Amino acid sequence: MASQGTTHVILSEAKNLVGLPTRSANKILRSSQQNSDSLRMTFGTTPHSHADVERYDVVIIGAGAAGLMCAIEAGRRGRRVLVLEHANKAGKKILISGGGRCNFTNLYATPDSYQSQNEAFCVSALTRYTPQEFIGLVEKHRIAYHEKKLGQLFCDGSAAEIVRMLLDEAAAVKATVRLQCKVSTIRRANGFLIETDIGHFVVGSLVVATGGPSIPQMGATGFAYGIARQFGLNIVQTRPGLVPFTSSGRALEFCNRLAGVSIPCTASCNGASFTESLLFTHKGISGPAMLQVSSYWEKGEQVHIDLLPGFDLLAHLKEQQAFRPKAELQTILSALLPRSFVEAMGETSIPSRAMDQLSLKDLNAVARTLKDWSIPFNGTEGYRKAEVTVGGVDTTELSSKTMEAVKVPGLFFIGEAVDVTGPLGGYNFQWAWASGYCAGQYV
Ligand SMILES: Cc1cc2nc3c(=O)[nH]c(=O)nc-3n(C[C@H](O)[C@H](O)[C@H](O)COP(=O)(O)OP(=O)(O)OC[C@H]3O[C@@H](n4cnc5c(N)ncnc54)[C@H](O)[C@@H]3O)c2cc1C
Repeated sequence: MASQGTTHVILSEAKNLVGLPTRSANKILRSSQQNSDSLRMTFGTTPHSHADVERYDVVIIGAGAAGLMCAIEAGRRGRRVLVLEHANKAGKKILISGGGRCNFTNLYATPDSYQSQNEAFCVSALTRYTPQEFIGLVEKHRIAYHEKKLGQLFCDGSAAEIVRMLLDEAAAVKATVRLQCKVSTIRRANGFLIETDIGHFVVGSLVVATGGPSIPQMGATGFAYGIARQFGLNIVQTRPGLVPFTSSGRALEFCNRLAGVSIPCTASCNGASFTESLLFTHKGISGPAMLQVSSYWEKGEQVHIDLLPGFDLLAHLKEQQAFRPKAELQTILSALLPRSFVEAMGETSIPSRAMDQLSLKDLNAVARTLKDWSIPFNGTEGYRKAEVTVGGVDTTELSSKTMEAVKVPGLFFIGEAVDVTGPLGGYNFQWAWASGYCAGQYV
């Protein structure tokens, strides 16, 4: 229980609660006067009849990548910061990211890599806080890292080092992180009153950093969208991104038969193309190329898959026909693709005939099939398996410089909650760091 002195501080703050609806502010004053020897105050109209009221400059909801970065930057500016997290640990997604090694940024994370209804929005943040800035922080904490491929930087040790680094930096600037806290309501006049099961907080700046609903089993929620809607902000339709595809019927039987087989390819959909590998699973198809393209896919659309990217298959088949006329087509193709795949494609697509038994039309058909292959998908594995959420708080509602809602001064949205989505490979963390950094300069 706090001392009477503390109560007076809170009482004098209560008089300045310009952010509170008048009735609530009066109730705080009345109850404070009635209980002047106690810190506890009564909010008759709230679900929690007894609650502490504390004033901070900034409350950040969500102790994930973006929220912690924002807390560090705001704290560096001398702001009094409180981070409210509903899970029992901070940075849970960071901990499971990159297979436990956290692919914390990408050397090539430039704005043109990102997907948004408003593609110019991310330019400001990503050019002000670059991968080099975050690498500098990682090096300052002597965290060993390496480039795995394609500019993807991973910890040599464990993702826990990144969380530790962020929490140490937050502690150094005296930001407070409160775990297992449930936010029940947020109200506004000139500031914000945040009601939670651990107390009530009054702030000038409120930052929503609760991410998107991907991986709900890790504590992910669509909380940010609810807050955005409450304050009249538009949401760009959301869907799971970086997620495996699922099939049914004969297509699923095909995938099941090949589960575990991986093939380098170029997968394309809706103008986006990715050259990496695909992986057959017991539910459909995954692998980096398919995860990437899933962020652009919408139900009913076809994904075009070139199974031999950069390779002139028709020219190769003609050449083989001339030099190895008695060789079986399936044998020739098995030198280029996994034999199990060639066999599973079966008689209809890849006839098991000798090369000299095939017409030019046949060769053309085989080349077309493998250079523009597709398989029907009935959906994806959904938010349960999605690495990211596509869509989110409409960026036209936010300042690209500050992340503040244009029509709600003091309310900020950062990280995955916003309609900015990166591809696989450290890009999404870079957006979280950059947007958190920018908001941290203005809260
Ligand atoms: C399995 C997996 C692996 C990934 N690997 C990588 C990778 O290697 N590299 C990469 O760049 N990206 C990766 N990502 C994506 C990356 O994790 C996210 O894009 C990033 O964490 C988004 O940061 P954020 O701070 O916006 O949200 P989050 O990191 O999700 O943080 C949001 C926080 O808010 C909390 N929260 C939610 N609702 C509430 C609420 N109502 N009240 C209080 N707190 C709440 C959550 O518990 C969480 O702590 C991966 C994602 C997954 C799922």
